[in-house]
Amino acid sequence: MMERALELAREAAAAGEVPVGAVVCDPESGQILGEGANAPVANHDPSAHAEIMALRAAASRLGNYRLTGATLYVTLEPCAMCAGAISFARIGRLVFAAADEKGGAVINGPRFFEQATCHWRPVVEQDTVRDATAAGLLREFFRGRRK
Ligand SMILES: [Zn+2]
Repeated sequence: MMERALELAREAAAAGEVPVGAVVCDPESGQILGEGANAPVANHDPSAHAEIMALRAAASRLGNYRLTGATLYVTLEPCAMCAGAISFARIGRLVFAAADEKGGAVINGPRFFEQATCHWRPVVEQDTVRDATAAGLLREFFRGRRK
């Protein structure tokens, strides 16, 4: 699943967007419920982060904004907005690859899921096998932009 999310991140980079990809899946059937790639520039939408796109696709497919028990894979540690949406969607398990010291809100910054005002917490895991790959995509993207 994280490989698919990385593929979506590469597609985002090719489209000139910051390379982040996300996949929502049903952990029992292994079926992909929704996918998303970062697209705020193309969509003229500041909320078009990969996680939001994947949550929207999955919720629309299931006809339910609650994705209780679903797993979300994302190549970068979610920001505060996405962490909020993940909580509202009742995602059961969150797996992210690269940590984001500057914009992350799970193990960095506001640590959204640890706050008393957060009423649904997913199990959080970091994919330490693919975190370097995901971080590399971001580094490469921003290096290309500075030229
Ligand atoms: Zn976000």
